[in-house]
Amino acid sequence: MPKIDEKLEPILAQVQRRNAGEAEFHQAVTEVLESLGRVVAKRPDYLDHALIERICEPERQIIFRVPWVDDGGDVRINRGFRVQFNSALGPYKGGLRFHPSVNIGIIKFLGFEQIFKNALTGLPIGGGKGGSDFDPKGRSDGEIMRFCQSYMTELHRHLGEYTDVPAGDIGVGGREIGYLFGQYKRLTNRYEAGVLTGKGLVYGGSRARTEATGYGAVYFVERMLGTRGTEFAGKRAVVSGSGNVAIYTIEKIQELGGKVVACSDSGGYVVDEDGIDLELLKDIKEVRRERISEYAARQSRAHFIDSGSIWDVPCDIAMPSATQNELTGGDARKLIANGVIAVGEGANMPSTPEAVRLFQEAGILFGPGKAANAGGVATSALEMQQNASRDSWTFEQTERRLAEIMRGIHDICAATAEEYGKPGDYVLGANIAGFVRVAEAMRAFGVI
Ligand code: GLU
Repeated sequence: MPKIDEKLEPILAQVQRRNAGEAEFHQAVTEVLESLGRVVAKRPDYLDHALIERICEPERQIIFRVPWVDDGGDVRINRGFRVQFNSALGPYKGGLRFHPSVNIGIIKFLGFEQIFKNALTGLPIGGGKGGSDFDPKGRSDGEIMRFCQSYMTELHRHLGEYTDVPAGDIGVGGREIGYLFGQYKRLTNRYEAGVLTGKGLVYGGSRARTEATGYGAVYFVERMLGTRGTEFAGKRAVVSGSGNVAIYTIEKIQELGGKVVACSDSGGYVVDEDGIDLELLKDIKEVRRERISEYAARQSRAHFIDSGSIWDVPCDIAMPSATQNELTGGDARKLIANGVIAVGEGANMPSTPEAVRLFQEAGILFGPGKAANAGGVATSALEMQQNASRDSWTFEQTERRLAEIMRGIHDICAATAEEYGKPGDYVLGANIAGFVRVAEAMRAFGVI
């Protein structure tokens, strides 16, 4: 494990004390502080004015009750969250996650990662995250709508296009954003398109936003592969998950001539040696909202496996695109033994610290989520630009901007890693490059 610089140790100890039991948040902060040792060695002035302590403490945390009525007429109660972590570079920006595992520690880890990710895009967005422990699985449209309306009834007073701009994350897609936006508009009596992103195209959404996280992650990996003189064409890939990120990761890999042989959901994974049939996958996941096991039921050449790990499937390129800590040290060992050459994180923090260390020690190209999956939020910022100018760009124009932004993120991570003496270490490069942007803005504002 890289050691934390002794000047940064008390900061980590304070975070652990103050946020007791929030393991994922501790993990995310630890990883960033490990990288910052090299910064404070070179630039001790970053230790002034408690700059790093302030970055680790959210500006505001909102926790609220979300009551709603299910289809049987029973009243249900969930807990809602929004962590407004850092607004040095722009309004708080980050998605909403609806999943039973959500708690304040999960939202804080996601919000903390979001600060650096958003900074890396070079666009004017701060960092935030929100969500609820609501489980959308098996809920009717009416239940989802009533839940979203209740959630927004509290949250709306904390939002605004210049204040805080949520979007989707796990469990929150176009349908939920529609219900949330409708309720915001109704409560405020304002058509404030820029208050949410990931909107439908007919009411202010951006083309290519749906595809952006997956496409962007593939662009990032493509550029990493380029540093070793190779490419996606002819490669075998495994993409975990089967939500929005995974689907458009698979689509872009296939476009570039790679073959994706497996994907998954929380029930297990499917292996299709001929390459995932994307039309079938979209129909199952986007249209019917069914389980991935359906894929094997409808495609006879595929197998569904409900035990073990998707990372047992041999591949050249692994793109974990499901959820945090889904790829363990044991999985990393397996992937390395099977000859993986690159790992690009489509999800947020999907690899455990041990897995990251193993990949890096083995010299495998490793693109951390806060860099590799920044295409989604970057395109959200492009949606905000279009809303601010009451404009709507073509798919091609938007995708071109996305590709440029991903190239920029890759290159600043690579250049920063080199500058700080660890060429090829995208974790270090992403953490430092993101940090420096946020820290410079915070320094300009004085102690606030
Ligand atoms: N939830 C996505 C992320 O993890 C997107 C956030 C957004 O578009 O605001 O970056």
